Amino acid sequence: MNKKGKLFVVSGPSGVGKDTIVKKYLEKNDGHLSVSATTRSPRENEINGVDYYFLTKEVFENWIKKDNFLEYAVYNNCYYGTPKSKIEEYLNKGINVFLIIEVQGGLQIKEKFKDSILIFILPPSIEELKERLEKRNLDNKEMIENRLKIAEEEIEKSNKYDYLIVNRNIDSAVEKFSLIVNA
Ligand code: 5GP
Repeated sequence: MNKKGKLFVVSGPSGVGKDTIVKKYLEKNDGHLSVSATTRSPRENEINGVDYYFLTKEVFENWIKKDNFLEYAVYNNCYYGTPKSKIEEYLNKGINVFLIIEVQGGLQIKEKFKDSILIFILPPSIEELKERLEKRNLDNKEMIENRLKIAEEEIEKSNKYDYLIVNRNIDSAVEKFSLIVNA
């Protein structure tokens, strides 16, 4: 019988570079990156079904009722959730699955999948995170302040995670990530 794939949860504050780390890892390694559903509006360049499944609140709540989610949470006044579809199938085929999700969802996954591996990406400092969010130019000042407040709350909960990686330099963060995943 095939060896089962592992389920990895990657969390960290907005702007910390978690998507970049996972995507760079997947350029050279096998694995399935789960596409989440959300009720937030798409940003410019985001594609429905690729970056997220963009749902209305009604549809999202209908998916909750139908038990379509592995986990879901409210973050920044919007719903975010991991659709169940195919994840177990990938794991059963021996393929690693990666979820890039916030902390409440990550801890729900750990409850349901005791073998899941939780990795938290930290910024070198809150000041540096603020600079990155400003440079990204996706959010206004109020949104950035809100993201920083959420970031501090998330960092407090990161002690429940299995591994912490400080993203000082993207290449060395990807290397540490690969060592953990391929261990
Ligand atoms: P953003 O709006 O910046 O794309 O995402 C906001 C936060 O929601 C990020 O921390 C992101 O990782 C998280 N997120 C994305 N998808 C999911 C999901 O399916 N479930 C949960 N719980 N969080 C998610």
